[in-house]
Amino acid sequence: MGELKSDIQFLPGVGPKRALLLKRELEINTLEDLIHFYPFRYIDRSSISPIASVSPDVAYVQVQGKVVSRNLISIKHLSVMVEDASGRMEMVFFKGVKWTFDKLEPGREFIFFGKPQLYNGRLNMVHPEIDAPQNSPASMGVLTGVYPSTEKLKSGGVTGKVMCKLQSAALALCLGEINENLPEQIRKTHGLCPLRYAMQNIHFPENPRALELATRRLKFEELFFLQLSLLKQRYVRSRAANGIPMPVVGAPFHACYNALPYSLTGAQQRVIKEIRSDLAGGTQMNRLLQGDVGSGKTMVAVLSCLIAVGNGYQACIMAPTEVLAQQHYANIQKYLAPTGVRCALLTGSTTRKERKPLLAGLADGSIGIVVGTHALIEDTVQYKALGLAVIDEQHRFGVGQRASLWSKGHNGRPPHILVMTATPIPRTLAMTLYGDLEVSVIDEMPPGRKPVQTMLIGHNRLPAMYRFIREQIAAGRQAFVVYPMIFINEKMEDISNVEQGYEDILKAFPLEEGYKVAIVHGQQSNDDKTFNMRAFVEGRAHILVSTTVIEVGVDVPNASVMVIMSAQRFGLSQLHQLRGRVGRGAEKSYCILVKDPKTGADALKRLELMCATEDGFEIAEQDMKMRGPGDLEGTQQSGLPVNLNIASLARDGLLLEEARHCAQSVLDDDPQLQSPRNAPLVQELRKDKYNIKDYSNIS
Ligand code: ADP
Ligand code: MG
Repeated sequence: MGELKSDIQFLPGVGPKRALLLKRELEINTLEDLIHFYPFRYIDRSSISPIASVSPDVAYVQVQGKVVSRNLISIKHLSVMVEDASGRMEMVFFKGVKWTFDKLEPGREFIFFGKPQLYNGRLNMVHPEIDAPQNSPASMGVLTGVYPSTEKLKSGGVTGKVMCKLQSAALALCLGEINENLPEQIRKTHGLCPLRYAMQNIHFPENPRALELATRRLKFEELFFLQLSLLKQRYVRSRAANGIPMPVVGAPFHACYNALPYSLTGAQQRVIKEIRSDLAGGTQMNRLLQGDVGSGKTMVAVLSCLIAVGNGYQACIMAPTEVLAQQHYANIQKYLAPTGVRCALLTGSTTRKERKPLLAGLADGSIGIVVGTHALIEDTVQYKALGLAVIDEQHRFGVGQRASLWSKGHNGRPPHILVMTATPIPRTLAMTLYGDLEVSVIDEMPPGRKPVQTMLIGHNRLPAMYRFIREQIAAGRQAFVVYPMIFINEKMEDISNVEQGYEDILKAFPLEEGYKVAIVHGQQSNDDKTFNMRAFVEGRAHILVSTTVIEVGVDVPNASVMVIMSAQRFGLSQLHQLRGRVGRGAEKSYCILVKDPKTGADALKRLELMCATEDGFEIAEQDMKMRGPGDLEGTQQSGLPVNLNIASLARDGLLLEEARHCAQSVLDDDPQLQSPRNAPLVQELRKDKYNIKDYSNIS
């Protein structure tokens, strides 16, 4: 008993020094941690490749050959030439040089296992694992796991081979302690092997089929418990009568609605109905509103806020940047004019003098709607009765900030929350990130939007691009030119880049010829930013040169050209956001992606995808496949609710759906998980890793 929790240090073959390494490098503290550290790939070590057949494209290869010569180039650089019947290959060592030199005597035969690479036009392997032919690990089974590793681990003696031995020892000690955590019924229905079998075979597969079974079982389990914990929270919350009641639609809503210059799209109407029914119900709303750039989320937000006001509550709209908050404020005031509802703007640059009456208005309830940045949730801001918080582009908010919003409710009841995002989130990710939220999607664009023509060019075509922009300006249009931010030492250093760009644009579009160019970047004062931004929004500037501060929300329907410089530096979702800035007016619009000379193959693929589609969801799916979900915009700051150990949101979408359905049906039958057959589930959910309650409370 108790082996699972015992310190890794006491596993034979570890000891204090290696234990420290395992803890520091891999966060493996106990035997339990160790056996849940899985190989990330498997290699067939029963096969040995002829040297002549090795290519640099394969991840790992095993060759067998005789040492021809060994050459100590320096005390930290050993080169060994190895030969088999088909050819020769160099093995290179920068560590353990002396030991390796002694071992690899010329004339003796060894098996070398490692990653081949091309160096100066010739193939070599750096730090291959070395085995004498008779102890080829082929005897350990057909498939050998390859574990994630680091340089420090390898030089500390925890090689791949050692890791296999440790796993084997750990499994022998604690496999018997591992209890099945999925009820038999679920395993049968979904064709899942027992947990012990899976644990054994994920490390030491008996054969490829066993590995497949083990992998499927462990992935399913991981996704299933994640969904079960999320859905259970949602269920608990939906039963708690903790929502601020908003039974009526109210006069302000109707006043605004009747004065709208256009009719709402079908999707906008549907979403507003969903929100209305949430607000009228007895429970707190937690709704995610997804809609591509330009789909008209602002209108939905305003009408939702007006429902809150119509019921005697206040509403706030939080934007990620000052510029965006200002723009929201300006837009919203137009819509509010016919309602008589008082609206205010509160940001970091609101002066102390302005703040005083504003805070008083929020405290006495005379201000119905307040728009702002995260200044809205500072401790000093007290609401009389905050009933609804709309969070625009929520991923820019830190978790803690969202928590303090949660605490600003009324009479101990949290405000209803509407999270809006223009970053389309792949379904699998939404189900995980927001598994406990209701999701609304605006999947229809306001009428009259034209497709944006996207092209990819190199620097050689810049003169042609300038000519094209001049034509557009002559036709009365405006253009964005965006530069990437550059981060140096974690500090934002966008200025040199965008300022150099500004110089270039000024040369191509001289003032003497009547061109007006504005510039906006993160290091400007707010006054400068606002001044330049307004020059462009109001049509006085022809070109806006900027960094990505314009990324979200900025609405200039007259702009018909979006130029993105060094486009290879942007992520797909970000490119999509930027492109969404044009194509908002009646004219045909263009997005020109300018790549730098040394653009890599992966980046090119992304840029080509941008030229091929305008569908934000498809772009998001592809982005996730290319970069993995952890790197997606939208997840960087907020993070996944739990780390997935083996399943992948990008690749295991179908299994995730299956696991979610399974979790749902378990809860449908036994909402409180009280049945004895579900006892193993309750047991599993008690583990720390599923303690993700805080996350859902603040979304
Ligand atoms: P989002 O915030 O989703 O990117 P916005 O709310 O800024 O989009 O709306 C984009 C543009 O479309 C705005 O100029 C807005 O006035 C306009 N718009 C919104 N809804 C409609 C509609 N139903 N019909 C026509 N235009 C609309
Ligand atoms: Mg918007």
